Amino acid sequence: MAEICDYEGSSYRTDFWEGQGREYEHLAERIALRKLLPPAGARLVEIGAGFGRLVDLYDGYQQVVLLDYSKSMLRQAQDHLGRSGKYVYVAADLYAMPFVDSLFDTTVTVRVLHHVQNIPAAFQEIQRVLMGGGVYVLEYANKRHLKAVLRYLLGRQSWSPFAPEPYEFVELNYDFHPAWMNARLTEAGFAIGRELAVSSFRLPLLKRLVSPRYLATLDGLLQGSTAPLKLAPSVFVRARAEKEDVQAEDRGFFRCPSCHGADLIEAEEVLTCRGCGRGWAIDDGIYDFKEPAAL
Ligand SMILES: [Zn+2]
Repeated sequence: MAEICDYEGSSYRTDFWEGQGREYEHLAERIALRKLLPPAGARLVEIGAGFGRLVDLYDGYQQVVLLDYSKSMLRQAQDHLGRSGKYVYVAADLYAMPFVDSLFDTTVTVRVLHHVQNIPAAFQEIQRVLMGGGVYVLEYANKRHLKAVLRYLLGRQSWSPFAPEPYEFVELNYDFHPAWMNARLTEAGFAIGRELAVSSFRLPLLKRLVSPRYLATLDGLLQGSTAPLKLAPSVFVRARAEKEDVQAEDRGFFRCPSCHGADLIEAEEVLTCRGCGRGWAIDDGIYDFKEPAAL
């Protein structure tokens, strides 16, 4: 069983994003996501959606599922996105997502794999919930970025950025080698598509001297051409699920994470699984699949 990085109750939004000098990265990530994301579709899930930082990019989708392990982050997303049927808020573990097979045409993970201990298990689960030909847009932190390579070559860093295995620099924080990552995607049944190099200008001095907007525009211009070098701190990939299955219109939506049955009865405050009898709370518009509810 893999450990989960839990942002429950964290002030991620204010501590990490707002007024913290990350405007350049935020804008550069949006440019990359816009390039790789199919612009429209029936249903998209963002895994690790947090407070919904990127959700406006999904306007072309009929339904958007925000999945996160932290209910408090989903509550923040709900506060600004509202309670229309377009957005579905789901608190769950990404290794055991409460969805039937082939439910989504698009899945997204940005700044999430960074905290994922068991990448093969996560990729397998993401492939399961994607329809055949569905698109997975992912971002990961690259261990062989330019600064790490230079530090290593100058003897200022002990670990090799060229070694394939993930590098855990702080507990539950991983940087990945691009070749290792692509091999795991292929193993899980994905075809690798376009790749982008993102946040190449993550240098404190440059960020102080140049406006975030200008830096992000420049980043956007170079994301495609510099991708083959694999020297950026952040890499975006568009992968495609290689399987026959078409979209699961008539197979329901939720699946019990305990017994995998798809026969769940929804009442006002609880989803009850007819397969195993467990209940899953619906807490003021947030579906909570983290622990079975006391019935
Ligand atoms: Zn069940």
